[in-house]
Amino acid sequence: MQKVATVDSKYRQEYLHPSPLVNPTKTTLTTNDYKDKRIITKILGRYYDLTDFKHPAGPIAIACTDGRDATELFMSHHLFTKKDVKDILSQFEIKNPPEEIPDSGVYDWEHTMNDPFTIELHERARKMLGTDIKGNWKRNLEIGLLFIIALTQVYQFVQGYWHTLLTMPFSWWTFGVNIFHDASHFAWSKNWKINDLGMNVGFMFSIPYVWYHQHIIAHHSFPNVYGYDPDLYHSEDILRVSPDMEFVQAFVYQTISFIWVWLVAVPWGLMFMGMTQSSVREKYNRVVRFSRNKYLNPNEIIPRYLVFFVLFHLVPFYLHGFTFKGCMFSFWPIYVFSVCFMISSQINHLTPDTTDKFDKNFFKHQIITSHNVATGSKLVTLFTGGLNLQIEHHLFPSVNHAHLSKLFPIVQELSKKHNVSYTESPSLWRAVVRYFEHVRNYSYPEPQIKKKIE
Ligand SMILES: [Zn+2]
Repeated sequence: MQKVATVDSKYRQEYLHPSPLVNPTKTTLTTNDYKDKRIITKILGRYYDLTDFKHPAGPIAIACTDGRDATELFMSHHLFTKKDVKDILSQFEIKNPPEEIPDSGVYDWEHTMNDPFTIELHERARKMLGTDIKGNWKRNLEIGLLFIIALTQVYQFVQGYWHTLLTMPFSWWTFGVNIFHDASHFAWSKNWKINDLGMNVGFMFSIPYVWYHQHIIAHHSFPNVYGYDPDLYHSEDILRVSPDMEFVQAFVYQTISFIWVWLVAVPWGLMFMGMTQSSVREKYNRVVRFSRNKYLNPNEIIPRYLVFFVLFHLVPFYLHGFTFKGCMFSFWPIYVFSVCFMISSQINHLTPDTTDKFDKNFFKHQIITSHNVATGSKLVTLFTGGLNLQIEHHLFPSVNHAHLSKLFPIVQELSKKHNVSYTESPSLWRAVVRYFEHVRNYSYPEPQIKKKIE
């Protein structure tokens, strides 16, 4: 497959450096400030007060736009909407916003929407799916079966069977990811309350308040853009994953240290650091400003972490005592869970072919920075909750992953036609190897881009 020229350095220089969003400051908000706070957002340069808008995707979708330039969120989540959303939006426009919101300023939206590639892509996708883009009965039946399997493993885990150290976290991960990720994108169901409920099955790897900021608001808007994508910062002292990260000596060891990162990513990174950052910082991973309002409520953060801590770390000691078995049942499952999470997520963008890329067309940028994996394998699709169709997911985040395989041939054909770099690996193993190559490349002061393992 042909590749496009990657990053226009002048454009990148002008828009991406220095990022206006990189200095951490402590939050000055008190808990009472956010409850009656109005939700003001900026989309394509205009300001809107969305506080009273009854959005069909629910109040959390609106709350995510609070106090930020939500152009990317708006443009990527309304591709299949029947109604004229710009017309609806115009009813909420305000001329005198209480405070100025900086432009995200990463993509050229006029170019994006007038690019023949974008026009053709959206026309063909709409024709293929219509407006029926959420979960279906087949998908929910599958989830029901996964739930029963996961429950049997939890039961055996409580009984103390040793095999459940692997099977309990593995089965709960497979069940959880198949609901949680779609639900967080408002894509499991048309009913926002069901999506809200679906967020709770991910209690062992995410505090929803943190996940919305990390994944929905920021990562999906700016994948692999340094200064904007929080996923580049998770282990920034020991793992260099972007060419823009300044080299320090610790990165020499990252071909080994990444294993440690994978083991503790969930209990330490997503849960503990997620709780800590969202409680005391203004920004997540230094780049995403936290919204604090009635529906993105910081009061839920610490109780949710405590539920995780008690269930995963204290209950096993209660069941099996302060013994070797108690220790194993308290720590090992969450490590397995963490590795499942990292296998399904890190390979999606961090490869030698998808890292040093940028396009001012938002939709082309999603393609060239994402990595599809084993798209024909039902098992891989089940294990990753459809994250293996990462390119199509990033193009159409509001579409349930049950439908992504229908869009896959269209995206592939148009990418070829319009000379857009489309990266895929034939197997999960090959994808993990590509991730490792990426980590190894950046362990050198000068990244040895695309050097392959033979
Ligand atoms: Zn996603």
